[in-house]
Amino acid sequence: MTAVSAAAAAYIVSGLLFVLSLAGLSRHETAKSGNAFGIAGMAIALAATVGLAARSIEAAAVGLIVVAMAGGAAIGLWRARRVAMTGMPELIALLHSFVGLAAVLVGWNGYLSVEADAGEQTEVPAGLLGIHSAEVGIGVFIGAVTLTGSIVAFLKLSARIKSNPLMLPGRNWLNLGALVAFAALTVAFVVAPSLGVLAAITVLALALGWHLVASIGGGDMPVVVSMLNSYSGWAAAASGFLLDNDLLIITGALVGSSGAYLSYIMCRAMNRSFLSVIAGGFGNEGSTASGTEDGEHTEITAEEVAQLLRDAGSVVITPGYGMAVAHAQYPVAELTRTLSEKGVAVRFGIHPVAGRLPGHMNVLLAEAKVPYDIVLEMDEINDDLAKTDVVLVIGANDTVNPAALEDPGSPIAGMPVLQVWEAEHVVVFKRSMSTGYAGVQNPLFFRENTRMLFGDARERVEDILKAL
Ligand code: NDP
Repeated sequence: MTAVSAAAAAYIVSGLLFVLSLAGLSRHETAKSGNAFGIAGMAIALAATVGLAARSIEAAAVGLIVVAMAGGAAIGLWRARRVAMTGMPELIALLHSFVGLAAVLVGWNGYLSVEADAGEQTEVPAGLLGIHSAEVGIGVFIGAVTLTGSIVAFLKLSARIKSNPLMLPGRNWLNLGALVAFAALTVAFVVAPSLGVLAAITVLALALGWHLVASIGGGDMPVVVSMLNSYSGWAAAASGFLLDNDLLIITGALVGSSGAYLSYIMCRAMNRSFLSVIAGGFGNEGSTASGTEDGEHTEITAEEVAQLLRDAGSVVITPGYGMAVAHAQYPVAELTRTLSEKGVAVRFGIHPVAGRLPGHMNVLLAEAKVPYDIVLEMDEINDDLAKTDVVLVIGANDTVNPAALEDPGSPIAGMPVLQVWEAEHVVVFKRSMSTGYAGVQNPLFFRENTRMLFGDARERVEDILKAL
């Protein structure tokens, strides 16, 4: 078997392992083995690629590749060990920007080694030069949009810039104009490839990526993260065409299409149109920057909450981002066990975008060993909330905001929420009266049946456990 066909066989095995990995990652029970398949696939792919490259480059260059890989692996391990669950989305956004950057560099390298070198002998036959140029233009464009889009997402998710949507006048026309200009520039590049046109495509795409994500408001960020995931996949696939690497094309297409499907599912869960979100917040017009409704709130103590729980027949816990910040999942699991032993029916209601990652709350509750069968999705529990005695809102805010249903001017209008206010008593655990991720005031806090339990969620749940 030649080295080329050995590499092709290794790529097929890696591709299959990646498919198994995705299938495994789709359920908690099989997620660990899914991860293991992914790691194995990537190890085989790297070994095959470096082995193949080693045949045609000097030993010193192979040494450099190995050093770069070892350095990258060490940094990756160090970051992955240190990152808190709450910092995961911003880390993922940053990693997407690297894929975008790689695609831009591969595209530029393609231009410099083929089109810019036209006098010399290249590996691309003259008849296919136009296709190569189109691949360069498209690859650089997708890569550059992914690069700046992911950087803005990283800055927003890590609260280094405000999460409010940037509202430039005529922003939909700006996006559309950029797409038309890209098409025209790509045609010009295919007809007469030049450094100037490629630079113009790059700058245009960098600006478009920045603008697309900057104009998306706080509440829609989950869709943006999964959409950038999808873009990074297509950027990798474009690089695969340029590098003539089948595995990169397969992997890019897997990431691209699974990211697009996840974005679609999240849009459906949030009652948003997929097209309007990918067009950069289209349809946000007319929404007020933040609800301003204010009122009187009533506080409650941990002992009083313990009393409410003792008297309750049914309790629903709706966790949110604050539970993750406070690491309150362990005392919450303990509280669930204590109440169940006292004969109280306890269930969880999980909003599809609670926390900062798809499935964030499910992962935390699974980690704290809360049984899966009492953890229900929003649609499964919403109808039961009116018959519930006590709802504990632990560090959730946007996902339980009635303004989404009642105030058409709200930036989160139309997003389905957990209708916790229908229960007999609602207790909200948070540290202050400040807003959630979307920066919108929450009228739930001023409802007659709502009580505020201020402080760190973990400490307050522990206080309730003591009182029980
Ligand atoms: P929110 O971000 O709306 O609210 C979290 C609340 O937790 C805050 O009001 C905060 O109030 C409170 N909190 C923070 N730390 C603590 C603590 N230590 N103890 C007690 N309370 C605390 O959370 P939700 O989960 O309800 O909503 C998620 C939001 O994030 C949505 O807007 C969603 O669109 C967005 N998002 C979701 C992503 C996803 O994939 N799931 C990705 C990106 C964004 P206080 O400061 O007063 O304590």
